[in-house]
Amino acid sequence: MKSQDIRAKFLEFFESKKHQIVPSAPMVMKNDPTLMFINSGMAPFKEYFLGNGTPKNNRIADTQKCLRVSGKHNDLEEVGYDTYHHTMFEMLGNWSFGDYFKKEAIAWAWELLTEVYKIDKDILYVTVFEGSDEDGLQLDQEAYDLWKEIVPEERILMGNKKDNFWEMGSQGPCGPCSEIHVDIRSDEEKAKIPGAELVNQDHPQVVEIWNLVFMQYNRKADKSLEKLPERHVDTGMGFERLCMVLQDVKSNYDTDVFTPIIREIEAITNTEYGKDEKTNVAIRVIADHVRAVSFSIADGQLPSNNTAGYVIRRILRRAVRYGFTFLNKKEPFIYRLVEVLDKKMGKAFPEIKDQKHLIQNVIKEEEASFLRTLDQGLVLLDGLMENVKGTEVSGQKVFELKDTYGFPEDLTELILKENNLTYNKKEFEKLLEEQKGKGREATAIQTDDWVTILEDEEEEFVGYDTLEVDVKLVKYRKIETKKDGVQYQLVFNLTPFYPEGGGQVGDKGYLESQDGDIVYIIDTKKENNLIVHIAKTLPKKLDTTFKAVVDEKQRMRTAANHTATHLLHQALREVLGTHVEQKGSAVHSKYLRFDFSHFSKLTSEELRDVEDFVNARIEGKLPLIEKRNQPLAEAMEEGAMALFGEKYGDTVRSVRFGQSIELCGGTHVENTADIWHFKIKSEGAVAAGIRRIEAITYDATKEFYFENNRAYYEIKDALNNPKDAVKAVTDLKDENAKLKKQIEDLLKEKAKNLKGDLKNELEEINGVQFLAKQVDLDQNGIKNLAFELGGEIKNLFLFFATATENKVMLTCYISKELAAERGYDAGKVVRELGKLIHGGGGGQPFFATAGGKNPGGIPKVMERVREYVK
Ligand code: ATP
Ligand code: MG
Repeated sequence: MKSQDIRAKFLEFFESKKHQIVPSAPMVMKNDPTLMFINSGMAPFKEYFLGNGTPKNNRIADTQKCLRVSGKHNDLEEVGYDTYHHTMFEMLGNWSFGDYFKKEAIAWAWELLTEVYKIDKDILYVTVFEGSDEDGLQLDQEAYDLWKEIVPEERILMGNKKDNFWEMGSQGPCGPCSEIHVDIRSDEEKAKIPGAELVNQDHPQVVEIWNLVFMQYNRKADKSLEKLPERHVDTGMGFERLCMVLQDVKSNYDTDVFTPIIREIEAITNTEYGKDEKTNVAIRVIADHVRAVSFSIADGQLPSNNTAGYVIRRILRRAVRYGFTFLNKKEPFIYRLVEVLDKKMGKAFPEIKDQKHLIQNVIKEEEASFLRTLDQGLVLLDGLMENVKGTEVSGQKVFELKDTYGFPEDLTELILKENNLTYNKKEFEKLLEEQKGKGREATAIQTDDWVTILEDEEEEFVGYDTLEVDVKLVKYRKIETKKDGVQYQLVFNLTPFYPEGGGQVGDKGYLESQDGDIVYIIDTKKENNLIVHIAKTLPKKLDTTFKAVVDEKQRMRTAANHTATHLLHQALREVLGTHVEQKGSAVHSKYLRFDFSHFSKLTSEELRDVEDFVNARIEGKLPLIEKRNQPLAEAMEEGAMALFGEKYGDTVRSVRFGQSIELCGGTHVENTADIWHFKIKSEGAVAAGIRRIEAITYDATKEFYFENNRAYYEIKDALNNPKDAVKAVTDLKDENAKLKKQIEDLLKEKAKNLKGDLKNELEEINGVQFLAKQVDLDQNGIKNLAFELGGEIKNLFLFFATATENKVMLTCYISKELAAERGYDAGKVVRELGKLIHGGGGGQPFFATAGGKNPGGIPKVMERVREYVK
C-alpha cells in the first residue's frame, strides 16, 4: 500500500466512526511558553484537555506534523543512527474530548490495524500500565480486561510509569496508556528470542507504533493527582513506522516516504545507500533533516540565531556536517532535495508546494554560510594542531571553536584523530555543562497551581470595543523566574486587554478596585486559549469588582502601527508584485517591523512608491470595516489575505481598509486618517530572499521629523550657517581629502629620508645588521619601512617603538633566512618585550607587533632587545 493511501485510509476509518477530520496545525507553536514546536498530535488540542476551551466536535482525527528536537521529546541525536526515529514525522491520531473512552479507543485501534490494514495479529503486542506505588495507582484493570477479549494474554505486557503513564508536562492532564508494538523480525530471529522480551528494549524491528493515552488525572504543582471531571482519549501513531510495517520493509527509510529523497541524495553525491554504515547514517540524516527544515520554513520559522530559529539552524547544520564529512560534499546541495520533497508531499501539504522557491533559497544560503564557517574552522584547527604540545589539544580550545566559531566538536575530534591527536573531553564537557547551566538558571521557573476565585467562568475579550470595563477575577497563579522574579498571572471573566499575538504587543494598563487599590498590568499574553494578565503584585481583595483600564496612548500607537502594517503589506504586493508574502511582523507602540519574501534590495524609488501608496490611503480616510465570526470560506472569497503558518478556525475575523483585507485578530484604528503619517526608517535583508522594513507612524513620525530638523540646524550652525549646507559639507569633504593626500605624501617623504638615516645607523653584531630605535611614524609607515629595508639589506634585525599619548607600539622585523637559520622569532620578541610596556601582541617569526600603554617602559625595551642578537 502506498503511503498516500495509508494516510487516507486512517482518516477515512475515523471519519466513519464519526470523527471530524481536521488539517495538520502548523508545526511551529504560537502562544505557548512551554513548547516551541508541536511534538505530538495532541499539542494543538492542549487547551481542550486543560479545560480552557471547548472543541466544536468531541471526536477529531488528523495527521499532525511533529518535530522532536527540543525539550521533553528530543530524538535529534538518534536520528540517522537508528531506522525508526525522525526529527519531523507525521503522527496519525484520534481524539475523544469527554466522549468515548478506553472501550472504543482500544476496539477501533485493533479493528483498523488488523481488519483495514490487515496486519497479521501474530506480530502485534500490547502493553498496559502496571500501576505505580509512588502515585498510589494500581494496574489499569479496565484496559487489561478490554484487551483480554481480543488479544491472547501472553501478548499483553505490563508497562511501568516511564513507558505507560503519559503526562503533558510537570503539571496538567495525564493518565495511563496502552501501546501497540510490532515485531517485524524474520521467523528465524523470532525463534531465537520471543518478541515479548524485546518490547520496549530499543530493538529496531520490535517497535512501538501506536500509543493510546487515557487522560483521567490532573497532576498538581505539589505532584499529587486529582481525578479529571471529564475523561479524554489521545492517540498517536507514527505514520512512517506504520508505512514500514505495511510496505513490508525493515526500516522507515525503505518506505516510499523516504526512498525518492534517498535516490536523489545518491545521485547528487555519487554514493550508494546500503553499502557502508557511515554513508548510510549520513544519507539518513540528510533525508530526515531536509524534511524537518523545509516544513519549518514553510510554517514560518526561518533559521536564525535565537530560540526556535536556532533549533532549525542546528538541524540544518547537522545535515551539512554529515554531508561534508561522510559524503564529501563541500558545496550546497541539500536545497536541491526540496524538489523531490515537493513531488512527494506537496499534495498532502500544499505549504511545501506554494513556498518551494523560498525554502530552496533559504536552505541554500544557510548551507553556503555554514560551509564558510567550516572552512574557517578548519584553518583555525590547523593552527591548533601545529602548536599543540604532546598529543592532546586542550578542551578549552575545542570549546572555543564550537562556541565562538560554530565549529562542531565531533568534526574537531574526527580531524584530530586523522592526525593522531585527541582532545581533553573532560575539560570540554565541563565548559559545556557550565554554559548550559547558565542557560537553565536564567529560565528556571516555579509555577504554582491556579487558584480559582470564580467557578465556571469563561473569559471574554471585549478589547475591540472598549478600553475600560468592570471585571471579576476568575483565577490567578504565582510564577517565579530568575529573570523577572515573582509575578502573578491573572485571568478575568471579561477583559479589554489585548494579549500579545499576531505580532502585536500585549496591552498594558491597570486594575482599580472599588476602594481605590491599584494594581498595574505590565503585559498581557496568550497561553493557548487563555488571556493572561501579568502583574507584579496581587490585588488586596480578590473577590470584588475591578475597573480594568487599558493604557490608551500605548494602544492607540500600536493600533496605528498595526493598520499601517496591513497597508504596507498591500503596498508591497502592489509595488513589487504578488510574490511578496508576509514572513514575520512585529507591531509595537513605537515602531513596526515587517519581514517579507522578495529577492532584491528595494530601490529608493520603490521605497518612495511604497511610502506614497500607504500615505495616500491614510489621506484617503478609509474606515475600518470589521467582520467578526465570518465564515473562513466567505472571507477568502472576498479576497482576504491568509498567512502561512497560522491556524485558522471555521470562523475568522476579517479587517478591511479599502482594498486591504486581512484575517487578523489585532487591534486597529477606526479610520486610516488616525495614523497621521507613515515613514519607512530602514530596509534590509534578514535571510536569503527575505527583506525587512522598519517604519513608524502617528506621533513617532512627528518626533522623527522634529529630530531630523533639529540635527540639520545643528549641522548648519557648526558650519557657520552657510546658505547651502549640502554644498558646504561637500566642500569640506573635498578639502579634507586633499589635506589627507598631502599628509600622506609628506609622510612618504619623511619615511624616505628616515630610511636613508637608518641605513647609516645599522650596527653589525655577530653578523647581524641590527637596529633598535624609537621613531615617529604611523604603523603602516613602519611596516613599509621595515619591508623596504628588508628588501635591500640581508641579515636584518629591526626593532621599532612608537609612542603617542598612552599608546606604545613595538614592531620587530627579522630577515626570513636569518630567522630560520638562527631560530629567531619576532613573535616571541614582541611578546616578551610587550610585557615591559604593559601590553602584548604577536605575529610571525619574521614580522610581529605588540601594543601597550606604558611609554615609560620603552628605554628598558631598547636595552633588552639587544640581548636577542648577542
Ligand atoms: P519511542 O519510545 O519509540 O521513542 P515514544 O514513546 O516516544 O516512542 P509517543 O510519544 O508515544 O512515542 O508517540 C506516539 C507514536 O509516535 C509512537 O508510537 C511512534 O509510532 C511515533 N513516534 C514517536 N517518536 C517518533 C519519532 N521520533 N520518529 C517517528 N515516529 C515517532
Ligand atoms: Mg520517544
